[in-house]
Amino acid sequence: MIRNALRRFMYGRYGNDQLNVFLLVSYLVLYVTYSITGFDILYWLATVAMVACLFRMMSRNYSRRREENTKFMKKAGPVIQWFRLRRTIHKDKDHTYFKCPSCSQQLRVPKGKGKITVTCRSCGAVFQEKS
Ligand SMILES: [Zn+2]
Repeated sequence: MIRNALRRFMYGRYGNDQLNVFLLVSYLVLYVTYSITGFDILYWLATVAMVACLFRMMSRNYSRRREENTKFMKKAGPVIQWFRLRRTIHKDKDHTYFKCPSCSQQLRVPKGKGKITVTCRSCGAVFQEKS
């Protein structure tokens, strides 16, 4: 019932994207920091982030919202990728991760094989790496 009402309400509206998730997380971080420090400016910034997030979700202007998200992802994409890679490396205990010295391609080899010769799959460079 409520779900249907919400679906009807959200019909034709933009909904969620990465920029909105970022705004929501910003809101939470700012609000928590505000409740610890008591700096009024943080409260207002948190409110602005929340209002922007809601406005974008409710918006019917798809092309503008998509454009904003594309701009955001151009800037935030590499940062998000970096965090994802850290998480993968942290979880994956069976491989050693490193970058190719000639093309910077991210590579991995099985751990505990000692010194090995690596051939980069992307540029074909051959080099020694400890695993
Ligand atoms: Zn390479």
